[in-house]
Amino acid sequence: VNPSGLEDRTSPTSRGRSIAGRPTISWALLGDSKPQELQAKKLKYRLKYAWERSTFYRNLWERQGVTYRDLCDIESIPDMRRLIPTIDKEALIQDQISFPPFGQRLTVSPEEVVAYSTSGGTSGGVLELQPMTRLDVARASSSRAAFGGHWMAGLRPGGSVPIFFPVSASGGTWFPLEWSRRMGATRALLMHTPTSERLEELARWRISFMGHMLPSYLNILSSEARSAGFDPTKRLPHLRGIVLGGESYPLGWAERMSEFWGCTIHSNYGSTQGFGLQAWTCERGAVPDGERGVLHHDDLSFVMEIIDPETCAPVNVGDRGELVVTTLDNMACPYIRFRTGDSAVNLGNDACPCGRQGLCLEAGTIGRLDDQVKIKGTNVRVSAIEAAVFHHSFVDDFRLTISSDRSGRTFVHAMVRPRQDTSMLDDAETTSLASDLQRVVGSSVQVEFTNDVLHDPQNSRGYRKIRRLVDQRELEF
Ligand SMILES: [Zn+2]
Repeated sequence: VNPSGLEDRTSPTSRGRSIAGRPTISWALLGDSKPQELQAKKLKYRLKYAWERSTFYRNLWERQGVTYRDLCDIESIPDMRRLIPTIDKEALIQDQISFPPFGQRLTVSPEEVVAYSTSGGTSGGVLELQPMTRLDVARASSSRAAFGGHWMAGLRPGGSVPIFFPVSASGGTWFPLEWSRRMGATRALLMHTPTSERLEELARWRISFMGHMLPSYLNILSSEARSAGFDPTKRLPHLRGIVLGGESYPLGWAERMSEFWGCTIHSNYGSTQGFGLQAWTCERGAVPDGERGVLHHDDLSFVMEIIDPETCAPVNVGDRGELVVTTLDNMACPYIRFRTGDSAVNLGNDACPCGRQGLCLEAGTIGRLDDQVKIKGTNVRVSAIEAAVFHHSFVDDFRLTISSDRSGRTFVHAMVRPRQDTSMLDDAETTSLASDLQRVVGSSVQVEFTNDVLHDPQNSRGYRKIRRLVDQRELEF
């Protein structure tokens, strides 16, 4: 039984045999249920749990007119979507600031919190914290995605795994230590070893697996290996697999990495809110037969929605949308409809030829929704563009579109909506706006004014920022 089959000993609906001080396994919960039925049961349980224990969730939902009885009627994900609002990191941080350290979303007593993780990125200098109970830590270290995904990629008891990142409070740095410990593998702690010396260390440790690798870091390590004449296929004969995560990567590049390192390239997806890992590639890997592979999502521990960030409607199979996660196993702090800010391509259910059931995402193409964009080789932050445009007080809103033509030339077009109380635009003002935009973007920008509404107004009022940048370029790797 996967740890997700454990029912919380504090469960108000616990029907299993209770052993003092230990979690209760509720076999009745598993029964003959199909995965989707079990997921729906766990979802209803967790929603009621959050209502009963968290002032944050209860207040939020009551403001939306949701009652406890409504929660009892939720039988499916569409039911939840109709009733329960999404939350985002900004809302959680506001809760933390008002009720330190963990906010009113905490669903256990403070004495039960034995650890916490932080997520990458801050909002106004404040890190979002993910409090964890003892059971949460156990579940995170042996989650289906971590255990199954790493096994698929070749990690075995007695194997040897390099740890490249210095350990901090960030779950992204200490979860990997837990995963490999739980598997029974030896960890080679190379976080303080310079990159130039790491290759020889990998050989010395007879490394059999490299996980939690940022594609950009694997690229650095590969360049280092090439220039040092270090051939991984000869020097690392025990290496069985590499798991990439954290960034998207080009298809052809991943195939070259597979050839260079002489092993299958795998991929995974996760977040610190979701105990580290939530989806993983099966034995087919991340680039089977020269195509993008499939990430299998852990539907028994999470509900993953893929929505249009503007309309919040679920996207069709084949389309890209924002990942919204609901955790079914987190005890100290459940995340209910948490907008991750990550975007992925929805492959629908049962999309992999391997035959495994459940939601599938495209491997290798998950990225941040609107963080940063590269224009003619320069990284430009959307927030910097916004700052430059909104510096001009006559601007109500704007959209920036980046496009390219067949020869690869890039065009940047800004559609600006002036404030409706502006009678006539001054030439000097419009010229100044265009030159400010050009300075930030680093290339010429065609500016056009419109009185049309540029977005769905309801999206501009919440904590969540609207997407002002549209990238229509066709990228060819
Ligand atoms: Zn598969």
